[in-house]
Amino acid sequence: MKPSPLSDLIAQNLRQIRQRIRDAAHGAGRNTTEIGLLAVSKTKPMEAIEAAYASGQRAFGENYLQDAMEKITQLTNLDIDWHFIGKVQSNKTKAIAENFHWVHGLASLKHARRLDAQRPTALAPLNACIQVNLSQQDSKGGVSEETLLPLAQSMSTLKNIRLRGLMTMPDPESSASEQQAVFRKCRQLQEQLIDKGIFLDTLSMGMSKDLEAAIAEGATWVRIGTAIFGQRS
Ligand SMILES: *Cc1c(COP(=O)(O)O)cnc(C)c1O
Repeated sequence: MKPSPLSDLIAQNLRQIRQRIRDAAHGAGRNTTEIGLLAVSKTKPMEAIEAAYASGQRAFGENYLQDAMEKITQLTNLDIDWHFIGKVQSNKTKAIAENFHWVHGLASLKHARRLDAQRPTALAPLNACIQVNLSQQDSKGGVSEETLLPLAQSMSTLKNIRLRGLMTMPDPESSASEQQAVFRKCRQLQEQLIDKGIFLDTLSMGMSKDLEAAIAEGATWVRIGTAIFGQRS
């Protein structure tokens, strides 16, 4: 792809984000290779994805299914891992099961079972994170602490879904220390599930503004939109 102001900007933003991830990992005494960068390209044009891809980015996150499907079907020539990070609804599970590598926002056994049944067996199991709601306000969705263990246990038995870990999003209005407390709580919940014999290796947490706090608390996927692609309109 030809250099353009957009691709130069995205390349530069990606370099900065990778540096922030390295610095945060270093500060937390963690290995940078444990932390994946998910580029959140929701609402952004195909050219933005191609530019990030040209800079070596391979994992992309999308929230809106229609928008995502257009990009996925146009970009089949690129070796992209697509992550669905939006709200899972019954009428979306088939397209998610057929077109994505990961789903981050699972919050019900009903949706997990549908995804399991609809995942084409020719594909590898769909990687999944359960979204946990650890903020006071519940507008963001996700399961409560109490329902987490039974859901994780049931999901672990599904063949075409591979439960990998937990995802959380702190209330963006809350203070930095409250956000960090949410990330810490999420990691503690993951450790409790591991203690119960559920295999998990993933914590999907941290966005453009709070990736440092999330990495300090053990994030293995940071989901970054604005800091790579600019403000969304
Ligand atoms: C939009 C979005 C992001 C990216 O947020 P930025 O602040 O733009 O980095 C991450 N995760 C989810 C679930 C999102 O919806």
